Amino acid sequence: MEEWQLQMQNQIDTIEELEKIINVSPEEREAIENTKVKWGTTPYFASLMDRDDPKCPIRQQVLPSKYEQQNEYGIENYLVYKENRAGDEDRPDTIARQYEDRIAFTVVNTCGIYCRHCFRKELVVDKSLKLRFDIDEGLEWIKEHSEVREVLVTGGDPLLLPDDQIEYIIRKIREIPHIEMIRFGSRLPIILPHRITKGLQKVLGEYHKVPIWLNTQCNHAKEITEKTAKAVWDLLSCGVNVGNQAVLLKGINDDVKSFQELHQMLLNIRIRPYYLFYLEPAPGIDHFRTPIEKGAELIRDAIRGHTSGLAQPMYVIATNIGKIPLMPDYYIKHKGKKEYILENHRGETTSLPNIPE
Ligand code: SF4
Repeated sequence: MEEWQLQMQNQIDTIEELEKIINVSPEEREAIENTKVKWGTTPYFASLMDRDDPKCPIRQQVLPSKYEQQNEYGIENYLVYKENRAGDEDRPDTIARQYEDRIAFTVVNTCGIYCRHCFRKELVVDKSLKLRFDIDEGLEWIKEHSEVREVLVTGGDPLLLPDDQIEYIIRKIREIPHIEMIRFGSRLPIILPHRITKGLQKVLGEYHKVPIWLNTQCNHAKEITEKTAKAVWDLLSCGVNVGNQAVLLKGINDDVKSFQELHQMLLNIRIRPYYLFYLEPAPGIDHFRTPIEKGAELIRDAIRGHTSGLAQPMYVIATNIGKIPLMPDYYIKHKGKKEYILENHRGETTSLPNIPE
């Protein structure tokens, strides 16, 4: 058995196992004892937890909280709503669609960790949404829809499938003439970098005109280790581009220092920050949610002009009608008939002519 499989087999999901790694606080203990939904992590990711600090960004993402039982703003059956699963189009369970030319292909409902802020909770954490993971049915649907150019293979975590199943999915998608790009959404390079084995590299690698992109999720610099850096290097070395889709999380990355550090560290290990997601209105995650403006403010105060432009993710709200970008609105101070007044991150202004169309 490979190391990543051992890690999955030895998931930390009981207080007894957790106590070997950290000093569990009374609040954490109570929340774990009272939770009705799945929780757990790979031993590797657990090893990154601070032993004594319950505010540790990794502890907060992994360990249940009493606030999960409260829900003021979350939408029940959120995923069904968000993915338009109750809409008019007849699609297999594996296919979610918000755009004409791109679809999400959901192939599994297990994960390496069960993030407390997950908006796909009903599918992966409490498992109240039961889908039929019929891969061939999904592939057939994609084949019949020639307007689809791009397939996002998602879950759960699709890289938890065995190599031969991943190989099958990639091969079959590539056989469909209208597919131009395959994307994987996987947190494993961060929470289980051991998964990027030689075998997986062989499956993902080798030149093909239909490229593979992988977006992972890293929310705090503390999640990045030498092992992550090596896993990303291995992915890049076999031709897989790696981006990050961070989630804006109150108390974890919503301060200037953590936010800047995260995005700089991502670049240091060759991951391109791609998106910063506003936390979606799924139930039981209100305690992680910031005001909407927060993400744009952080880009203004921590990234733009303060560090490399490559470190800047696009801040978006993912909604049932697609992603809506939100950027800092301080750039245009004034728009007159003859000129624009623009402001930079230091508050300095300059003008540009307003050229009539
Ligand atoms: S890895 Fe992704 S799908 Fe799985 S629990 Fe975390 S956020 Fe949800």
